[in-house]
Amino acid sequence: KVKRIGFIGLGNMGLPMAINLFNGFKHEADFIVYDINQKTTSNFLRDHNTDPNNKEKVKAAKSPLEVAQEATVIVTMLPASQHVEGVYFGKDGLLEALGENHIVMDASTIDQSMATRVAKVLHEKGTKAIDAPVSGGTGGAQAGTLTFMVGSRTNADFENAKPYLEKMGKNIVYCGTNGNGQVAKICNNMLLGISMIATSETMNLGVRMGMDPKLLAGILNTSSGRCWSSEVYNPCPGVLENSAATRGYTGGFGIPLMAKDLRLAVNAAVETKSTVLLGALAQQLYNQMAANKNYEHLDFSAAYKWLSENE
Ligand code: NAD
Repeated sequence: KVKRIGFIGLGNMGLPMAINLFNGFKHEADFIVYDINQKTTSNFLRDHNTDPNNKEKVKAAKSPLEVAQEATVIVTMLPASQHVEGVYFGKDGLLEALGENHIVMDASTIDQSMATRVAKVLHEKGTKAIDAPVSGGTGGAQAGTLTFMVGSRTNADFENAKPYLEKMGKNIVYCGTNGNGQVAKICNNMLLGISMIATSETMNLGVRMGMDPKLLAGILNTSSGRCWSSEVYNPCPGVLENSAATRGYTGGFGIPLMAKDLRLAVNAAVETKSTVLLGALAQQLYNQMAANKNYEHLDFSAAYKWLSENE
């Protein structure tokens, strides 16, 4: 029986995921959280350490090492490969205290080779290692409806991870061996990166031709141009009430993260000699936006803003 669950990386995705995991297991297990940004961990403590009979119900760790010392089930949700490398293998990292009783799930989007390396090193310690990147955005993270794309050594490891992932997601899909979760995620996000630009170009063209954006979006969404970017995450402000676009492109999925995902896709395409014309073009646009200080902190749907500001 698990005594304490650990969560590392309480960002736009990690925080709502940690809250759902905490709520799902609060009667069975205690919690420990870690983020390099101490403010997020103290906010988590303030909001969730409310049990007067158990002051240690939720703890903030000083390092990933402390998380591994205290918790046997650990989820990590970090920006990119280098952060995962630091948290797992760096000084005071997870690895120093991992052993046979641990199960570790990494939900970050990183390259296949880092996911495979993490799994190999953890398996040598007897630890169960799962790559479980997600799709569904911050809305899906809050609602607990994420899709998890899971890579694991065995089906048994997958089944062990499932009860935890089910508290944060709706579709938990087994993708095959370690690293395969990342393969599915990288492919999905290349398509998403392209479709967000395509939707932005379409909406911008329609608006400049004099069409009401809500009306245009409604038509697209019942026609053959419909896609997730047009329907669930429309990049034109005002089309959807709760979209990143409507709240000034704040929160959501940061442009540097999308640029990173397209870099992962383009690198994978080079390695596998695959042609990704549109993926590479999309990468160029997100790179340009990521290098612009008015855009680097915005949600990736600001591709629409970029186009609408260009004559
Ligand atoms: P984010 O930048 O909002 O959050 C990352 C968190 O990790 C931050 O709180 C940061 O302080 C923390 N962090 C960074 N380095 C750390 C370290 N060394 N130790 C501990 N904590 C550290 O990112 P996010 O939007 O939550 O995305 C996380 C991952 O999920 C990324 O790989 C991203 O590509 C992927 N993802 C994001 C979305 C989305 O819509 N935002 C959707 C699907 C997948």
